[in-house]
Amino acid sequence: MEYDWLTVGLIVLGVVWGLTGIEILLGPISWIIAKIFNLEKTFADECEPVRRIGLKIVVDKSYQRIRNYSQRIKDLVNAASEQFRKQFKIEFYIQEIVLLEYRVKSLKVFLGWLKFEFPVTPQSDFDLVIGFAGKPYDFSTGGMAYFLGNYAVIKRSWYKDKTLIHEIGHLFGADDYEGLSNYFSVMNYYAPFWLKFFDLEQGKIVYSNKWKNFRTG
Ligand SMILES: [Zn+2]
Repeated sequence: MEYDWLTVGLIVLGVVWGLTGIEILLGPISWIIAKIFNLEKTFADECEPVRRIGLKIVVDKSYQRIRNYSQRIKDLVNAASEQFRKQFKIEFYIQEIVLLEYRVKSLKVFLGWLKFEFPVTPQSDFDLVIGFAGKPYDFSTGGMAYFLGNYAVIKRSWYKDKTLIHEIGHLFGADDYEGLSNYFSVMNYYAPFWLKFFDLEQGKIVYSNKWKNFRTG
């Protein structure tokens, strides 16, 4: 049998395009649209004070074998902090990184456990608790958070800074978008992974909670 290399080539190209094409195509297009229409709004004034939020980070045992995991976590928090600083003048700092002795199997159970294990009270020196799990069984979700609460959990993955910003968004009262309306928002599941800003509607909500007291207990 003789191969028609052009056909084989086109099939291979088609499969690769099918797997990655949507992101490759939508990525640059949506970036250009976001820039042209100035969709990334800044909500805070230049002279406004910065709100500093302390994060207690809890990672499961799977992080033990990742080289420089604490530096990677710091980079991740810095990326989220940069986005929140740009739009709201909110910054995050790491109060502590806790390494667990076991692997997390369920994000949902992890979320409840964090609340039990690390209560946030008026005496606490942190505001939010963010848990990271290597390979939990929940396939459908990249993260979970309590709406306007203190706790969020995130599955380790390569688009994780979008997930971290998204989940912290829930802690500041932002809601999910699931359809293609409001596509240009970190709160939309279908937005490209590099789109990390809040749209006007959800951004207003986050900004209204800028000075929320998280250490209520
Ligand atoms: Zn969400």
